[in-house]
Amino acid sequence: MAGERRMTCINCPMGCELAVRVENGEVAEVKGNQCPRGAAYAKAESAHPVRMVTSTVRLRGADVAQLPVKSAAPVPKDKVRDCVRALKPVAVDAPVAAGAVILADAAGTGVDIVATRGVARAAPDA
Ligand code: SF4
Repeated sequence: MAGERRMTCINCPMGCELAVRVENGEVAEVKGNQCPRGAAYAKAESAHPVRMVTSTVRLRGADVAQLPVKSAAPVPKDKVRDCVRALKPVAVDAPVAAGAVILADAAGTGVDIVATRGVARAAPDA
């Protein structure tokens, strides 16, 4: 099976537009990349596309109601929605440290979801 896919390399701000020729399920040729990282990205993206997960969870006991979170590493692209769904019922209590694990092994990916910043507990009312 042969075909051509187009994708944008996301490894640097150049954002090269890649033309990827696939033959028998394998990447046979990559054009448009201005450095070797583009070809490596095209091959990895064709074989196992991955994405970072970014979302928010409910936060109790702080001056803000939402805590921004992200995956500690990219997860398989087809698991991103499952990870976001798994975060829906999650609520955490302040204080929260930056990098704290909010949801371990999100959606069975083996990747933890962590806080992207620390949040202090709200000062008690005077
Ligand atoms: S191919 Fe190289 S130069 Fe182009 S976006 Fe990717 S990393 Fe940047």
